[in-house]
Amino acid sequence: TKGHVKGFFMRNAFVIFTVAAVIIGIILGFALRPYKMSYREVKFFSFPGELLMRMLQMLVLPLLVSSLITGMAALDSRASGKMGMRAVIYYTTTTVIAVFIGIVMVLVIHPGKGSKDEFTNQQHIEQVSPADAFLDLIRNMFPPNLVEACTKQFKTQYALRVVHVKMTVNETIFTLNESQPITHKEMIPVPGSVNGVNALGLVVFSICFGLIISSMGEQGKPLKDFFDCLNEVIMRLVAIIMWYAPIGILFLIAGKIVEMDDIASMGSQLAMYTVTVICGLLVHAILVLPTLYFVVTRKNPFVFIGGLLQALITALGTSSSSATLPITFKCLEENNKVDKRVTRFVLPVGATINMDGTALYEALAAIFIAQVNNYDLDFGQILTISITATAASIGAAGIPQAGLVTMMIVLTSVGLPTDDISLIIAVDWFLDRLRTTTNVLGDSIGAGIVEHLSRHELQKKDLEVGNSVVEE
Ligand code: ASP
Repeated sequence: TKGHVKGFFMRNAFVIFTVAAVIIGIILGFALRPYKMSYREVKFFSFPGELLMRMLQMLVLPLLVSSLITGMAALDSRASGKMGMRAVIYYTTTTVIAVFIGIVMVLVIHPGKGSKDEFTNQQHIEQVSPADAFLDLIRNMFPPNLVEACTKQFKTQYALRVVHVKMTVNETIFTLNESQPITHKEMIPVPGSVNGVNALGLVVFSICFGLIISSMGEQGKPLKDFFDCLNEVIMRLVAIIMWYAPIGILFLIAGKIVEMDDIASMGSQLAMYTVTVICGLLVHAILVLPTLYFVVTRKNPFVFIGGLLQALITALGTSSSSATLPITFKCLEENNKVDKRVTRFVLPVGATINMDGTALYEALAAIFIAQVNNYDLDFGQILTISITATAASIGAAGIPQAGLVTMMIVLTSVGLPTDDISLIIAVDWFLDRLRTTTNVLGDSIGAGIVEHLSRHELQKKDLEVGNSVVEE
């Protein structure tokens, strides 16, 4: 009946708008391609998308900090310790599975044919030692200046050497600029480009801060109330931005399709490589993660994923898991009714360190580069690739194409030429969107699983506090 249809529409308005935005964006993008817009015209055209990126990024810092602090303050140290352990076990397990899938896929499909003549590249990337990269990971956990941590990552040894990279793939020049995403055609930053924020440092600081508040009892209450209120304000801002999100996503996608290179000019190795990555990510996202969710919770994983659609599409549109974070929060708490004490703790950490898609991608890409170079990897080297790919995914920031930069660690660890990153750069903008979506899915399913496993502690705490919801 009419009332039913209307009710369905109202309940699912966000998802309907967002899905429609993707479809219209794709159609519009392809319709405008024949007009061969200039670089500047494309930038004007995708301006509404750039605005969405900026709005979301604006919220990430206060959201990350306030949710972690209040999340920790709402738990006692035993409960948060247990929850933290569960989250870490989940992150490690799923990342290892993801890397494994990536490796199996690339070995079975074997997209690299041992010749580089399809690629033209002229560029130079300095060698980066894995030890340097590892030290930077630790350095980033302890930012010497909190204000600075809000604007940049600490990258001394490692990324500074990666600053000037210029390459040509199929006659298009790409520039890889430290933590900036690749600049297309010219050296002007792409709309939506984000600078690396040291999320890891802020996460560590906020967790400690929240733990101390929780241990202070009554005395800590003013601060707890302050951050609770801050968190609430930010979430209300998110609710407003969500109405704008479909418009932004439409233009982000259409703009990207307008400026992308001709698909026909892609070499056959690169095409096979793209297919391999897509298969790997699909297996992980549609098979492994839902199965895991079902096994642990005995609930229908696809209902859970349905509640996440808007976050997943935002990830696809923005290629940044940290920019998507505000929407992920909303979807999990409002659609999937995940306990706020869990999301506040698990999501910010997950968005920062848990990147299944990126880990899968980095292992797969490194082996692809070995195949192109006709370089036989033994078992030990494949193991090294798995370990460094895991580390590289933890170190990658949740910003567009960060995974491409941290891939240097993986390549150098087995002596593969880092210059060959240029071989895959032409398709990275696309694969980045897919792996970001996988990353966000992994974080969200993790929140669902951790909530289920922690339900007893949460209930106990509810009884103590004497209410059934987190005090809001
Ligand atoms: N863009 C990805 C993310 O934000 C990171 C990556 O480049 O793999 O999750």
